[in-house]
Amino acid sequence: KPLALTEILEETMDRFRFQCQQKQISFTLFIHGSLPRVYADPDKLMQVLDNLVSNAIKYTPEGGSVAIVAKRNSDGMVEVGIADTGIGIPKQDLGRIFERFYRVDKARSRSLGGTGLGLAIAQEIVHAHEGTIAIDSIYQKGTVVTFTLPPVSRR
Ligand code: ATP
Ligand code: MG
Repeated sequence: KPLALTEILEETMDRFRFQCQQKQISFTLFIHGSLPRVYADPDKLMQVLDNLVSNAIKYTPEGGSVAIVAKRNSDGMVEVGIADTGIGIPKQDLGRIFERFYRVDKARSRSLGGTGLGLAIAQEIVHAHEGTIAIDSIYQKGTVVTFTLPPVSRR
């Protein structure tokens, strides 16, 4: 059924606020304009956001920042970006990052824990909703993961 994304985004902020405070990471939500509603399973969408925001926090050192930005993009899709100022991903790994179990630099990843499934699951859910997901990163500067969902009117 049609879903207002704003509520899900605010719930996501509530879920991770404490963890960000603990790590002294600034955590912000920007919503540009009014967002069209989307057809999405709220639990699945929450899982996408949890995976992406937990990555952003996990791979960002103390004192950094994580921001969620949501808007209606020029194609009319609802677009959500999760941007961080973290350790980034080397260019040569970017092409494989959505693969199951793929993790950058086994040593660095092992010390932080995880299995390498978060992005694969996020991609699977977004694709099941007829959306797109992409990652862009600059090594040692930061990462942004952007996903889109079709608005209710377009389906
Ligand atoms: P899991 O999510 O299963 O706990 P994970 O975080 O290692 O484990 P993914 O979420 O699939 O797995 O991410 C895959 C790899 O991509 C990570 O191991 C990490 O190397 C890299 N990565 C993902 N998000 C970021 C990010 N925001 N900044 C830097 N590297 C990232
Ligand atoms: Mg992860």
